[in-house]
Amino acid sequence: MPQDRPQPQGPRTWTPDELGALDEGVAEEDLDIRDTVRRALADLARPRIARWYLAGELPVRELARELGALGLLGMHLQGYGCAGTSATAYGLVCAEVEAVDSGLRSLVSVQGSLAMWAIHAYGSEEHKQQWLPAMARGEAIGCFGLTEADHGSDPAGMRTRARRDGDDWVLEGTKMWITNGSVASVAVVWAQTEEGIRGFVVPTDTQGFSAPEITGKLSLRASVTSELVLEGVRLPGTAVLPGAKGLSGPLGCLSEARFGIVFGSMGAARDCLETAISYAGTRQQFGRPIAGFQLTQAKLADMTADYVTGMLLALQLGRLKDAGRLAPQQVSLGKLTNVRRALAIARECRSVLGANGISADYSPLRHAANLESVLTYEGTTEMHTLVVGQALTGEQAFR
Ligand SMILES: Cc1cc2nc3c(=O)[nH]c(=O)nc-3n(C[C@H](O)[C@H](O)[C@H](O)COP(=O)(O)OP(=O)(O)OC[C@H]3O[C@@H](n4cnc5c(N)ncnc54)[C@H](O)[C@@H]3O)c2cc1C
Repeated sequence: MPQDRPQPQGPRTWTPDELGALDEGVAEEDLDIRDTVRRALADLARPRIARWYLAGELPVRELARELGALGLLGMHLQGYGCAGTSATAYGLVCAEVEAVDSGLRSLVSVQGSLAMWAIHAYGSEEHKQQWLPAMARGEAIGCFGLTEADHGSDPAGMRTRARRDGDDWVLEGTKMWITNGSVASVAVVWAQTEEGIRGFVVPTDTQGFSAPEITGKLSLRASVTSELVLEGVRLPGTAVLPGAKGLSGPLGCLSEARFGIVFGSMGAARDCLETAISYAGTRQQFGRPIAGFQLTQAKLADMTADYVTGMLLALQLGRLKDAGRLAPQQVSLGKLTNVRRALAIARECRSVLGANGISADYSPLRHAANLESVLTYEGTTEMHTLVVGQALTGEQAFR
């Protein structure tokens, strides 16, 4: 039993995390990082998130500097101004950030796991020196351009092309649904070349590059999503990522970002659960708190069991990643099941709140709407189902 909580009057109550003993076996250092981030976000983002969501905006540049000062951007990368934490610490931080909003976690994931990771893993020494320290500080924002309007789940068919012109590369094409696109200083853009798919480090002030923002979203409203338009974007020969050849390059980045989602989605679920438990304890109907009704308790108990299961899987994958033994198929399993479970929890928590559940004053419906995007990006539920199916049977069903 945890020792440091004040003894409540009457029967002792437990949090979902305490019931699952989720901190057990996690390094103190990782828990400290998590707690520091939780406290910081309580001031930095929590009080403002509903307003940003309703307005359909996120002050990305301001937040990136704050998150950079906290050491969150690219935190699990080594060197170049990055904190070099464990993968588990990174996962726990993703859960804290997504407990505030999936849009905020998308900012952290795209910066650290997609743009910075791509440069760290595949870039030249010059790329790393030029971009990583500024990105870790949040002074330079990165985006990751893989998806196109006609090529989402199947990016191999992308139409964006890079052709050689003397020593230069010239990029033509359009990317769609790109997080942070219109606020980025640097875009990692994937394009067809004569030697297959290659990645390019594109400073966004290069002539011919533009990034119109996509508006009218009903999900992930507190996140900047853009199109990337590349019209004769001329880059030096050194702009290509030397370490990435073929589709395995972008897929490696996506596996990194999905790992964060395995944890992050559970952060959103936890926030919904805490909101519903607290609400049920104070909302009175028929002369007693709705927490006293068996149907409410059944919802809370089932959701807690589901949340604890999801967190235990996330922590297990974190341990595997820290040991250098995490396979992409295991990340697919985690992304598939945890996003689905978080979405189900968010919807059920909304019902506990009755009419107040549809108000922006409470988080569950905002989380549920956000998780619809999380269900789709970084590989849809269907694609991860088929990856797990292939792992189990040896048969590829998606082509
Ligand atoms: C808010 C948001 C932010 C995003 N940010 C980024 C970003 O920063 N960078 C980036 O590159 N992309 C980003 N994306 C794009 C995202 O990764 C794609 O939307 C995703 O890969 C799915 O592609 P699609 O939307 O074209 O759907 P489609 O591929 O057209 O799929 C439509 C449906 O068909 C199903 N389907 C497709 N193929 C099969 C099959 N073989 N078997 C069974 N079912 C199948 C899918 O599962 C889905 O249900 C973002 C998307 C959103 C919504």
